[in-house]
Amino acid sequence: MTAEKSLAIVLRLVEFSESSLVVTLFTRDFGKISALAKGARRPKGPFEAALDHLAICRVVFLRKSGDSLDLLTEAKLERRFRNRSKKLEHLYAGYYIAELLSELTARGDAQVELFDLAVRTLDRLDGLAPIGGVIEHFELRMMQLLGHFPLVDACVECGDDLGTRSTALFAPVEGGTLCEACREGKRNVIRVSRDMLQLMKRLGEAVEPAEMLLEAVAPQRGALRAVLNSYLVHHFGTHFRLHAYLHR
Ligand SMILES: [Zn+2]
Repeated sequence: MTAEKSLAIVLRLVEFSESSLVVTLFTRDFGKISALAKGARRPKGPFEAALDHLAICRVVFLRKSGDSLDLLTEAKLERRFRNRSKKLEHLYAGYYIAELLSELTARGDAQVELFDLAVRTLDRLDGLAPIGGVIEHFELRMMQLLGHFPLVDACVECGDDLGTRSTALFAPVEGGTLCEACREGKRNVIRVSRDMLQLMKRLGEAVEPAEMLLEAVAPQRGALRAVLNSYLVHHFGTHFRLHAYLHR
């Protein structure tokens, strides 16, 4: 057993026993891990108040082999998610980031760029500035980093280009845009503007998006959310509890 150290985001906390928790962490150096935190539920436990949803901590854990839970031995709080704006929208957005990281990353698969993106995004959500476009940027950039970005500039079936029409067909199940000829028999096809597809692409490529790019999301948000929700559900075969709240 080796002791590993890393910066980590607290994604999930589940009661394990009267005094212990099982924590799901997204660590910078080791990807997602699940670890037992003994004594974490005691008022003066060894982790003090570090283990809180969306908190960023420095952790030390012992790796266990196979399917066994790792063992968390230290957690020092770097930054708590305080929801400074007191807006429910910001809090739900933060929980949604945790849900995406929890559902779409594999155990033990380090994703340093994604970790840094998540930290920057949580920081933004914890601030007072408007968050329009921040979530959509995170989703698209995350897909780009994980190699799951949908095809948006050619037909996903036959490879043909999409011509000069101002709209195109997006097929979440197939994983991208379709030409008119390939549409037949496809389910859940959505017609969207080419401008919106361009916006998706720019958001997916932006490491740190300019304010102007984030602001461009607002007028397209309804259509963009329809595409993203459907793509995430169909492509990854998972339902996201927080999709329902993102529009409120
Ligand atoms: Zn085609």
